Amino acid sequence: MERLEGKVALVTGAGRGIGRGIALRLGQDGALVAVHYGNNKTTADEVVEQIKANGGQAFAVQADLRNIAGVHQLVETFTAKLESQTGSSHFDILVNNAGIGTAQKLEETTEQEFDQLFAVNVKAPFFLVQQLLSNLRDGGRIVNVSSGVTRIAMPDIISYNMTKGALNIFNLNLAQLLGPRNITVNAVLPGIIDTDVNAAWLHTPEGQAMAKNMSTLGRVGETADVADIVSFLASDDARWITGDTIDATGGSHL
Ligand code: NAD
Repeated sequence: MERLEGKVALVTGAGRGIGRGIALRLGQDGALVAVHYGNNKTTADEVVEQIKANGGQAFAVQADLRNIAGVHQLVETFTAKLESQTGSSHFDILVNNAGIGTAQKLEETTEQEFDQLFAVNVKAPFFLVQQLLSNLRDGGRIVNVSSGVTRIAMPDIISYNMTKGALNIFNLNLAQLLGPRNITVNAVLPGIIDTDVNAAWLHTPEGQAMAKNMSTLGRVGETADVADIVSFLASDDARWITGDTIDATGGSHL
């Protein structure tokens, strides 16, 4: 029996990148996976098909998480589809992965961009948890995809780093709040991972060298490096870990 057999997981931003890796891994672990996506139905459908091809179960759910209406849409669509597939709107694992980055320094950051970063990276997970609390089963799991920038100063992307700092505080407080329900809440802090957001600079010889040198393990992180940690945190093996932030930077800037 796979370790997440009989569990239901919702992974936000799962059409590509780290979220895709997490959805594939949880599907492989036996969970029924809701693959949330923002606007690219094709890639989300591909993730669903890949999970099914591996013998798993999955369905896609669309919602734009830039505003609260999108959060409500996600909750409604997810619970409706879940109920039609399983006869229940209850689930076990929520992975708050969807997020956006920035290329703007302090001097260049506009109010609009600042608000957008906080809307997607902080406000959306906050209200998603709020709206889904009664659907999340006791003994469930919440995993927040934060970032190594909450440990390592990178002032060139200061506004993004602040959103992940807020997510870590959310993580800690939520763990305390949900402990009595035996729900664990943990954050994973990836370093540089080879995904679309980094492709432009990472897929150059200089970018590769910089990223490899940052990790003491001497290579660039892959989505599976993060997904495997999320799989562990979602499993029963991690039942005694809560309120923690797990560094997944491959030992960057130790
Ligand atoms: P990505 O851009 O490939 O994926 C981000 C996902 O979030 C996409 O599926 C996208 O559709 C979704 N998303 C973004 N805005 C959305 C919106 N408004 N509504 C709905 N969905 C939206 O990036 P990634 O590298 O896979 O990042 C995933 C998470 O990991 C993010 O939270 C990111 O901050 C974090 N992270 C990434 C790295 C890295 O180096 N790639 C490092 C540390 C943390």
